[in-house]
Amino acid sequence: MKKKHFRKWMLLTASVLSFGLTACGVAPQETEPAATEIPEEKEPELSEEELAAIRREETLVPILEEAKGLAEGYFYEEAIEKLQEVPEEFAQDEDVTAALSAYNEGLSSFVPYEQPVRHIFFHSLIVDTDLAFDGDHMSNGYNYWMTTTEECQAILEELYANNYILIDIHDLCTEQTDEAGNVTLTAAAPLVPEGKIPLVLSVDDVSYYEYMKEDGFPKRLILDENGDVKNLYIDQNGEESIGDYDVMPMVDTFVREHPDFSLRGAKGIIAATGYEGTLGYRVNDPESPTLEEDKEAVRKIAERLKETGWLFASHGYGHRHTASISYNSLVEDTTRWKNEIASLVGDTDIYIYPYGEEIDYPSQKLTYLQSEGFRFFCGVWASKPFVVVKDGYVRQTRCNLDGYTMTKRPESVSDLIDASKVLDQRRPELE
Ligand SMILES: [Zn+2]
Repeated sequence: MKKKHFRKWMLLTASVLSFGLTACGVAPQETEPAATEIPEEKEPELSEEELAAIRREETLVPILEEAKGLAEGYFYEEAIEKLQEVPEEFAQDEDVTAALSAYNEGLSSFVPYEQPVRHIFFHSLIVDTDLAFDGDHMSNGYNYWMTTTEECQAILEELYANNYILIDIHDLCTEQTDEAGNVTLTAAAPLVPEGKIPLVLSVDDVSYYEYMKEDGFPKRLILDENGDVKNLYIDQNGEESIGDYDVMPMVDTFVREHPDFSLRGAKGIIAATGYEGTLGYRVNDPESPTLEEDKEAVRKIAERLKETGWLFASHGYGHRHTASISYNSLVEDTTRWKNEIASLVGDTDIYIYPYGEEIDYPSQKLTYLQSEGFRFFCGVWASKPFVVVKDGYVRQTRCNLDGYTMTKRPESVSDLIDASKVLDQRRPELE
C-alpha cells in the first residue's frame, strides 16, 4: 500500500510540474529536464523492494489478469501458455504458482457428457411487442414462432443458472481421415467442465426479411465503433438505436459477463438463407446501388462473428422444402447459396433444414449434400434431444424456444427453462 501511494505521489508531482510549465507557456519538450530531476531527487527513497513492487504491478499483473480471463472461458492451455511470459524474477510468485496449478487442474477436470446434446434455436427477436402483436395477418405467426428480446434475455439467465454451457456442434463427433483420404465420423461424448451440460444454439434466417418491416424487428446487423456486432433498430418514430436487439449481440454480451457460459468461446450457428440477402443486407439484388458496399459489410460482420465464436450454416438459398423439392432444385438452390452467401460468409459443413423438413438417410440428396461438404444436418424435434453419427454425417434435432413451445409444450423444455418465468406477459393468447 505504502509503495503504491508513493508511486502515485511521484506521478502526481510529475504531472503537476509539467502542467505548471506548460501553463506558463513553456513548450512541452522543454519540460524534459524537470521530469528527469524528479526521479533523481527521489531515487534514494526507492528500495530494491519498492522497485520490484512497481515492476510486479507493471509486468506481472497484466499477464495474470489476461491468463485469468482466458481460464474463465476454459481456455486453460492458452492461460498456461500466457503464464510462460511471466518474467523470471516472478516465476515463484505465489499468484503465479497458484494460477498455474489451478489451470492445470482445470485442464484435467473435463468430463465426457454421455447423453444426446440439446440444440435450441431462435428466429430473429421481437423488439417491439406492440408492433409485432398489432393484430395484422402476421401477428399470430410471430406469436407462435418468435421470441421477444426480454424472453431471450430471461432464457439465457435460466440456462446459465441451470448449468448449461454453449459448445461447438463439431464437438459431437471426431473426424478421422484414412490414407486414401476417406473421412470417418465417430460419435463423441463432448468434454465439458464437471457439472456443466453442453448445449448447441442456432439462430434461423437472420435476414431481417422484408415482411418483418414495421413489425418491431431489428433492421440489420452492424459493427459498432468498437468493432462489435450489434443491431440497428429503428423504432416506431423512426429513431435509430444501436444495441443488443437480436440473439447474436445478446449472447456476446452475456458471455462477456459470464465467460463460463461458453466452452472455449463457442456461441452458436447462424442458419442463413439467401433469397433476401443476409444479415439485413439485400446482397441478392444485382440492381442495388449499394450492392458492393453491402457485400463488404456482410463480409466484415461475418468475419467478426466467426472470430467471436459464431458459425454459419446453410438454411437453403430459397428457404425451400428440402424434402419435397426435386433433386435438381436442391442442387440449384445449394449452388446459389454457395455462390451468393458462402462467398461472403465462408464455407460451412452445417445444413439446417428450412421448416425442419429432413431428407431421407440415406438418399441421393444426402449423398449430394455430403459431396458439397455438409456433415452436420439439423432438423426440428422439440420432444427430446436426438443425435446420430453415422456414414459420414451427424444428424441432430433442434428445439425452438418460441411462443408455441413455451405456451403449449412447456414440459418439453422444462430441463432447459421454466417457461412460466420466461414468457413475455405482453404476448396475446395463441390463436
Ligand atoms: Zn427458417
